[in-house]
Amino acid sequence: MAAERQEMARQGPARTEQVSEKIKKRLFIKTYGCQMNVYDSARMADVLAPLGYEAVDSPRGADMVILNTCHIREKASEKVFSELGRLRAFKQERAAGGGDMLLAVAGCVAQAEGEEILRRAPQVDIVFGPQTYHRLPELVARAARAADGRGVLDIDFPVESKFDHLPEEAAVPGPAAFVSVQEGCDKFCSFCVVPYTRGAEYSRPAAAVLAEARRLAAAGVQEITLLGQNVNAYHGEAPDGAAGHGTWGLGRLIRALAEIDGIARLRYTTSHPRDMDDELIAAHGEVDKLMPYLHLPVQSGSDRILAAMNRRHSAADYLKIVERLRRARPDLALSSDFIVGFPGESDADFADTLKLVNAVGYAQAYSFKYSPRPGTPAAVERDQLSEAVKAERLAGLQQLLGAQALAFNAVCVGRDLPVLLERPGRRPGQLVGRSPYMQSVHVTVPQVAIPRLVGRMVQVRIEAGYPNSLAGRPTPDGAPQTAPRAPSSARITA
Ligand code: SAM
Ligand code: SF4
Repeated sequence: MAAERQEMARQGPARTEQVSEKIKKRLFIKTYGCQMNVYDSARMADVLAPLGYEAVDSPRGADMVILNTCHIREKASEKVFSELGRLRAFKQERAAGGGDMLLAVAGCVAQAEGEEILRRAPQVDIVFGPQTYHRLPELVARAARAADGRGVLDIDFPVESKFDHLPEEAAVPGPAAFVSVQEGCDKFCSFCVVPYTRGAEYSRPAAAVLAEARRLAAAGVQEITLLGQNVNAYHGEAPDGAAGHGTWGLGRLIRALAEIDGIARLRYTTSHPRDMDDELIAAHGEVDKLMPYLHLPVQSGSDRILAAMNRRHSAADYLKIVERLRRARPDLALSSDFIVGFPGESDADFADTLKLVNAVGYAQAYSFKYSPRPGTPAAVERDQLSEAVKAERLAGLQQLLGAQALAFNAVCVGRDLPVLLERPGRRPGQLVGRSPYMQSVHVTVPQVAIPRLVGRMVQVRIEAGYPNSLAGRPTPDGAPQTAPRAPSSARITA
């Protein structure tokens, strides 16, 4: 295989295309981190498909392995280097059998650490960032030509957008899909690497997003989640001839997407409180297809810490936005991200975070210990907190958030909720799907009905609520279907 690769590279791209038509190659992509990375990994597979690469579910024996990495916290980055150690053994095993394995590191660790990866892990053939994966065929050819064994590096921020060069999506993942609408971030929160690894804010033109959504709907997708690091900062070019030309905000885009036949549900993530504009808040009240669940990270409840984080909003601003959203959509379930142990965070600051959590009442949330990231302003603050303090605060916060999530799930028991059944569960006679409020729901059905029900939206009577999920059964035929509105359950205090 190694010799064949060299020969293909020598004869150029045309020859590469011809040969690759005949040879199927195994591609394994391991994805770390956020949903944007999940979306990017699927698109990398689309880009490599014309070269004959087909996805497999193990790196052992693969012709190409891509680690699509996350740099957001130290733990996430370090995992990559330990995985590269494991993959070196597979690469050697394959070489011993006369084969070859191309090893690539993609994503935000690649963007941030570039050369350092090639130095620390010489078994790596290609390092490329989140903005250059449309160039993968060229990078693969360059790696094949690299006689000196040195890896190929492409961590540019190209002027042209990768979206203009990506092929149409080849595979539809199931009844629910992601569509990336916005990338990068100009907010520069003092703890965060995203503006450095993903680059400046960019919004895809609305027409491109609508075209992708229509293709997905035609292929059977019913639920679309719009993605962006700062998705509600979306300001994409309006479609030709659209009223109010110029640009569209996210609220306007959501209204247009809701008109597509076949799309039953819309969601978006991740939002910044400062970008919750009037049009988007109104969409929550007026667009039925927009699901009553919103991930709106606040990070801290202390104004002092929010200022040090450069969040450019106060706790009161956030509570006001929540109030307006709930006025528009009273059953809105909220989720957030929190960072504990930010440099200089006092007991009183942390108490303010607990106070905010109690005031909002979250349906679910993600919380993290502050992790100093190289190159970010907060990492060089002198007043770094000990691991012990961070761990203690995280445990306290998670206890409160866990109690709220359980209470939210418990109030759903006895209700009928529409669930989009995405896949079979681990147990026989079980399907897994999502409620409108983003809860994972395990639905018990006769085993024989499973193939027929995957991909269907069914009304489910909820029988149990757990810390992270619900369980239930389809409502009996003819049973009256209650409206999918939860009681004031979204506002839960533990
Ligand atoms: N754009 C979103 C926002 O403004 O909230 C956040 C996107 S970020 C990729 C996801 C989450 O990772 C953040 O909300 C934050 O809670 C967490 N995070 C980012 N940097 C972190 C750090 N240095 N230490 C701990 N958590 C961090
Ligand atoms: Fe990072 Fe979000 Fe802040 Fe942007 S808005 S810098 S992505 S935390």
